[in-house]
Amino acid sequence: MKRRELLKYLGLTAGTVALSGSASILSPSEQNTKKKRVLRIAHITDVHIRPEENAPERFVKCLEEIKKHKVDFFLNGGDSIYAADYDNITRERVNELWKVWKDTTHSISDFEMHSCLGNHDMWWAAPDKKDPMYGKDYVVKQLGISNRYYSFDKKGWHFVILDSNNGGGSLDEEQRVWLEKDLKSIPAGTPVVCMSHYPILAVCTHVDGGNHTDSKYISDLFYQHKDKKTTCLSGHIHLLDEAVYNNVHYYCNGALSGFWWEPGDKESAGKSFYKQTPPGYAIIDLYEDGLVDNQYFPHSF
Ligand SMILES: [Zn+2]
Repeated sequence: MKRRELLKYLGLTAGTVALSGSASILSPSEQNTKKKRVLRIAHITDVHIRPEENAPERFVKCLEEIKKHKVDFFLNGGDSIYAADYDNITRERVNELWKVWKDTTHSISDFEMHSCLGNHDMWWAAPDKKDPMYGKDYVVKQLGISNRYYSFDKKGWHFVILDSNNGGGSLDEEQRVWLEKDLKSIPAGTPVVCMSHYPILAVCTHVDGGNHTDSKYISDLFYQHKDKKTTCLSGHIHLLDEAVYNNVHYYCNGALSGFWWEPGDKESAGKSFYKQTPPGYAIIDLYEDGLVDNQYFPHSF
């Protein structure tokens, strides 16, 4: 490559990088056209519902507020119940938590909800692995989903729901094979929303760990599919975070329960905050050209 051509190439590349690293990834032509919204989704995550702290009533109020945004459907990022995963959790407690989940989400039963599994949702302390309440299958049943990972399509958008819970934030081999096949099956240019419980990538790793340990594998896979417009959603760390890598946006949308519905601790910047992140939910607008507008709404319930 001649020096002049090389400079031209570098200049173009730098421009592209600067553009995609900013809040918007609009190209100048896209900026000039009026965007048409295709879908509006509510992304709730880390609800950690529990009978204590008046959480059920507060959660229902929150859902009523979300409905006012006129969303098409809900994405639920996992850790739906407070915690079933600790050694001392009894069958009665697990039943109690899922009953509160069922009662409270009844207020949005008119809406589709696509959920993923969180690390606190599974009851591993069941007396027997053959117990119908043991492990992931029971959570899949409680959440009314088809499998621990799955995908679906809506209005030209492809949605991938992952199961991060394979040894602390990673995909198992079976799921890798499925994901590779799933991404291959969709046409170039398809916009993709990928939801996981643990963040695949996040900026705030200096504050909290808890990202996928196989981020490199997943981001490499997304790069192989750079002809699709991919956006990732997550929760788990209860922090509001946004990362961009190789043109893929990774939004971690805080926690609906904030500090697990409790007032907080000395590090909480406000009532029920987890560190500086207020309890809240995201409203996400998806546009026909593959653009995503992710907005976090703190709530004060
Ligand atoms: Zn979690």
